[in-house]
Amino acid sequence: VFETTIVYSPKVHHKFEIIVLLYDVTAAVQSKRIERDFVNNASHELRTPITSIAGFADTLLGGAKDDPETLNNFLHIIKSESDKLVQLTDDILTMSRVKNGNSERKEINIYDYVDQQLQMMEGNIKGMNLTIQNNIPRDIAEKVVENDLFQITKNLITNAIRYNKVGGKIAVDYRSHHDGWELIVSDTGVGIPMDQTERVFERFYRVNNAIKGGTGLGLAIVKEAVADMGGSVRIESDMESGTAVFVKFKRQA
Ligand code: ADP
Repeated sequence: VFETTIVYSPKVHHKFEIIVLLYDVTAAVQSKRIERDFVNNASHELRTPITSIAGFADTLLGGAKDDPETLNNFLHIIKSESDKLVQLTDDILTMSRVKNGNSERKEINIYDYVDQQLQMMEGNIKGMNLTIQNNIPRDIAEKVVENDLFQITKNLITNAIRYNKVGGKIAVDYRSHHDGWELIVSDTGVGIPMDQTERVFERFYRVNNAIKGGTGLGLAIVKEAVADMGGSVRIESDMESGTAVFVKFKRQA
């Protein structure tokens, strides 16, 4: 995409000169479009639970509240739609924090870091009777942007739990490369169809298998956080054996 400016130079030696300046604004136009799409999608996603809450509240006020069973059912729906709103606004705020936050690096022990997160999610892990393996060597330290690593590990482990099968497995692995390192979160869950392993990183994109409760922003946040740390992320998945997410970072001096 080009923007043009035409400059006429004064008449010199009985000739006119026209100078055309072309500016390549492709990146700026694309980034504006992505932002506009995001605002459109976010408004739509926020509107759905708000409309539902307003509708159920109106019906209750219109007289449905006098039936105790209806009252109880509708209040539960209003509560779960409100929870969805909280999750959505949290995720939207996280997106902008990852983008605009502090990118200072700090050396941390990767095993301990992942272990702490696994402990925080113990309730969900037990609920699904999952087996977890933290295969990261205990003495590994890397320089990371802590908020980025937090979002990456939290969202990937959450998905590995959420899209797993009862009694399934989750593993977190570490690989060192000559110029960097890799974190791999794998699960034995329901898998992602092969033609969608890239699309799942798009904001608000969800596969049919998506359970209630997610926002479709988790992997988009992961992608932003990985980019902020100068890394890359890809998914390998199989509907039979499950999903593995590979996050690669360059090691910085
Ligand atoms: P959500 O909040 O819906 O989980 P994400 O951006 O984290 O959003 O993921 C996008 C979609 O990718 C999910 O809705 C789900 O369908 C799919 N997905 C993500 N991680 C996994 C996984 N480990 N196994 C199977 N499907 C997954």
